[in-house]
Amino acid sequence: MAIHYNKKHVHKLSFFDKLYIPRILFGMIYTFKQMFARKITTTYPDKKWIPSSIFRGRPVLVEREDHTGTRCVACGLCARVCPPLAINIQANETLLPQERQPETFEIDMLRCIFCGYCEEICPEEAIIMSSEYDITFSSREEAIFNKEKLLISAEQAKARIDFLKNFKNKPPKI
Ligand code: SF4
Ligand code: SF4
Repeated sequence: MAIHYNKKHVHKLSFFDKLYIPRILFGMIYTFKQMFARKITTTYPDKKWIPSSIFRGRPVLVEREDHTGTRCVACGLCARVCPPLAINIQANETLLPQERQPETFEIDMLRCIFCGYCEEICPEEAIIMSSEYDITFSSREEAIFNKEKLLISAEQAKARIDFLKNFKNKPPKI
């Protein structure tokens, strides 16, 4: 079968291209220069990369400022929007000021795709994306993070919450 091709798309080699040697030399010069360029790789895990607050690492639950549990009011919105159905919540009524808290709050980190939808939908800033990216497990059970494993203090969450306040959901300028 004859193969037809459009001559417009055929790149014609110049005399310079046909010599090959100059191109090889250019390549070698470029490689040599890279030996002295600023290194952008790190020797992980000896040297850990600390991401900035814009980074979307694994989701975490934020503790209340008075340390009486999580900010979460068990509304279930995050579980509703989670695309891979990674969140499992069982609500319970409490005597805390917020009246409802999750009895069970689990995230299956094997399912989580770090999309951040849960963070976006949460009305309480109770679930946020952290800077943690190097999580490992040796079994499926270990990959299911419960409330205790997900909880971080408000101080630890401050950088991300400040970022969200400054760069997201800003009211439009009139
Ligand atoms: S980051 Fe995305 S996938 Fe992970 S728990 Fe939140 S909504 Fe689900
Ligand atoms: S959306 Fe926020 S408040 Fe509602 S259940 Fe999820 S973490 Fe809790």
